[in-house]
Amino acid sequence: MELAVDRERCIGAGMCALLAPELFDQDDADGRVLLRDPVPPAAHHSAAHEAAHNCPAAAITLLGRASAPPDRHTGD
Ligand code: SF4
Repeated sequence: MELAVDRERCIGAGMCALLAPELFDQDDADGRVLLRDPVPPAAHHSAAHEAAHNCPAAAITLLGRASAPPDRHTGD
């Protein structure tokens, strides 16, 4: 899994840093997201999914699917 963040979309809500402080931080200057670990270990994949799912600005992107649960319901 790889993580990417879009600082232009980020509104500084801080959910990511709250839910996954090992992976995300907030810039002291503008409050926007800082990516601490773009290639998180498996132990943090669940937190990465939770942060991406709860970001109100959809500013967090997960790349790659290795050992990751589905990040979206497809409506079966
Ligand atoms: S949860 Fe989303 S909007 Fe909030 S700080 Fe993180 S990336 Fe930015």
